[in-house]
Amino acid sequence: MIQRVATATGQTDACGDPVHKRYSQFYLKAAIVAFQAVLGLLAPGPSPAQPEPPEPPPPILSVPASTPTETLPTPPEAESPPVDLLPAPEPLLQPELEPETPLLRPPEPEPPPAPERPQPHKPAPSIAHPPYKEAARRDLRLVAGNSTVRGRKEYLSNEAAWAFARMREAAIKAGVRLLLISGFRDRTRQARIFAKQIARKGSLGAALQLVAPPGFSEHHTGYAMDLGDALYPKTHLETTFENTPAFRWLSRSAARFGFELSYPPGNAVGVSYEPWHWRYVGSKKGKTLFSAAKGG
Ligand SMILES: [Zn+2]
Repeated sequence: MIQRVATATGQTDACGDPVHKRYSQFYLKAAIVAFQAVLGLLAPGPSPAQPEPPEPPPPILSVPASTPTETLPTPPEAESPPVDLLPAPEPLLQPELEPETPLLRPPEPEPPPAPERPQPHKPAPSIAHPPYKEAARRDLRLVAGNSTVRGRKEYLSNEAAWAFARMREAAIKAGVRLLLISGFRDRTRQARIFAKQIARKGSLGAALQLVAPPGFSEHHTGYAMDLGDALYPKTHLETTFENTPAFRWLSRSAARFGFELSYPPGNAVGVSYEPWHWRYVGSKKGKTLFSAAKGG
C-alpha cells in the first residue's frame, strides 16, 4: 500500500517520488537546456561537425620563382587574410627592387671621342746640352776693341783668342769684316741671357732651343764665340747671317783656323740652327772640350 504522505516539505506524487524531487529534475533539465542554449550563443562559429574551409595558399607559394618582378598576388579571398602570412612577401621585395636599381643610377653616357685633329709634324725637342766649366780667368785674353760690337770688351781663352786674331786678319784681306759679338760668358751673364730669352719666347722649352742654361753654355769655356758681319748688323744673331759675305767666307775658311760651326741644322745637341756660333777645336784641349757635344 502506497502511503501517501503529505507534508509541508515532502509531498509525494502518484509514483511516490517526492514532489520537490520532480521539480528539481525539471529545473535541472531546463537549466541544462538553457545552458546549452547559452553555449550555442557564445560559440557562433562553425560547428565542430562542419568541415573547416581550406585556408588560402600562402602567397609566396603562388608566385612562380621565374617571375620575381611581378607584383605580389592578392590572396584569393580577402575575407580573412591570415595574419601569420603577412611577413611572407619580404623575400619577394628584394628581387622586385633589382630591376629598379638601374633606374636610380642610370649609366652615364660615355663622352664622345675627341675629334682627332691633324697635328702638325713637330718633333719633340730633345735638348742635350753638356755641362761646361768656366774658363780660368788667367786663361782669358781681351779681344781687340775694334773687333767687337761698339767697342765692348769681349774675352776668349788664350788659344781661341790667337786663332781668331789670325782668322780675322785673313778675312780682312778677303774684304770681309768679322765682328766678335759675344765671347766668354760666366754663369751670371748666361743666366741673365737665358732669363731674357724665356721672357721673350714665353716658355722654358722655347728658350732652350736658342740659349743654353747657365752651366751648359759653350761660351763658359772661352773657346766659343758669336760672330757677325760688321757691314750687316741687322743679321746679327739671326739666321739671315748665313746670307752675308762673312758667313760664306767662314764656311770656306774657318776650318783652316781651327773653327767649326757648333749648331748646324740637325745638330746632335738639338738646338736651333745658329750660323753665327763657332767654336775652336784647333787644339787638343778644344777637341776635348766639345767631344761630348759631338756625342764622342
Ligand atoms: Zn753663342
